[in-house]
Amino acid sequence: MALTPLPDALATILERVPAAPDAEEVPLLSAHGRVAACDLHSPMAVPAGDNSAMDGYALRAADIPGELPVALRITAGSPPGALPKGSAARIFTGALLPDGADTVVMQEDAIERDGTVSILGCVTQGAHIRKRGADIAEQDLLLARGQRLTPQLIGVLASVGVRSVKVYRRLSVAVLSTGDELVDADAGRDTIEPWQIYNSNRAQLIAQIEALGYQAIDLGTLPDDPDLIGRALEPAARDADCLLTTGGVSVGEADYVRDQIEARGELAVWKLAIKPGKPLAFGAVAGMPVFGLPGNPVSAWATFLLVVKPWLAAAQGAQLQPPKRVAATARFAVERPGTREEYLRVVLTGSGGGLEAQLAGSQSSGVLTSVSRADGLAVVPIGSTVTPGEPIEVLLLESLQSLYTS
Ligand code: AMP
Ligand code: MG
Repeated sequence: MALTPLPDALATILERVPAAPDAEEVPLLSAHGRVAACDLHSPMAVPAGDNSAMDGYALRAADIPGELPVALRITAGSPPGALPKGSAARIFTGALLPDGADTVVMQEDAIERDGTVSILGCVTQGAHIRKRGADIAEQDLLLARGQRLTPQLIGVLASVGVRSVKVYRRLSVAVLSTGDELVDADAGRDTIEPWQIYNSNRAQLIAQIEALGYQAIDLGTLPDDPDLIGRALEPAARDADCLLTTGGVSVGEADYVRDQIEARGELAVWKLAIKPGKPLAFGAVAGMPVFGLPGNPVSAWATFLLVVKPWLAAAQGAQLQPPKRVAATARFAVERPGTREEYLRVVLTGSGGGLEAQLAGSQSSGVLTSVSRADGLAVVPIGSTVTPGEPIEVLLLESLQSLYTS
């Protein structure tokens, strides 16, 4: 079977996204990161009335030049009343303009003495007024179906008195590790034998899933046993929206995950033309999507972000937002053209248009520490080499791992 380029694999995987989950109403204060299940239009204008943008004096521009008696004092939170003809109102930021006033003069441009204010210099009619509806007009679209609720959107909704929002039920993602060599450090084992290793994929994937606002279901670790693995694929179908497995998807003698997906369900994608991350299997068992991720920790990390994350976003009902890529100058070489698109862990220095990309350390798919140091993944297209000094595209990790991208 030929290697599948990432865009083709993504197209196949996204074609198989199920219908959006059920919607539920949640309090606004618990809605962070959730995906809106319907459009929301503003029930009111913001500001609700013309108000002062400054501490100063509200008046009629036509009364200037001249000295005006200060007839009113209006603070934010107090009713404004009406401004008698030929007078000014002392006014503070956020206070509603009194009826009749058309201009605010800031206090730095006025002198108040014995209840009378004199204005220094000329005034511009309409100055320093925040007009009703200047920020939000009544019925403006504030939240679109499929948008994720950011803290700033939550602030916007709070500003029009919204108390709760309709969002899609949170997806749950089951995680199953496979491998005879694996030991879970939190399973009461303080020491391991020299032929064993600690399971890092389980911890890493559960952290990723939770950081993205999904519910992680830990199915633990299984040995490389085809029957045990095969049976684990089926019950998982009952209580999760999808299953992620790690390990056992290569072509070694103890690699059973791919075979078990194929034997018990449908295999739609196998082997990607990317490095790291080639041995990825995607399919469905008993109607539940299964991602068989590679066992190598960097490959599991990368395929989760490049393949599983877009699927999860789409299945959660979110609008797709590709992660940010920036241009940088390569400060490393790739001498031999590859047959897979390569994602190199890089550290970025400089800023703006002057970014430089240096390798973040070992690029082995077993070395997680260089991932933890990296700022981005430099993308080397299939068949390309890289010469130091050349421009290169870098996928920013901050954006790739963000809750708000897919
Ligand atoms: P596999 O995909 O099963 O061939 O595994 C590839 C490599 O990743 C082997 O060196 C495994 O020991 C290692 N590996 C597999 N699963 C994990 C895991 N959960 N945590 C850390 N390393 C793993
Ligand atoms: Mg293995």
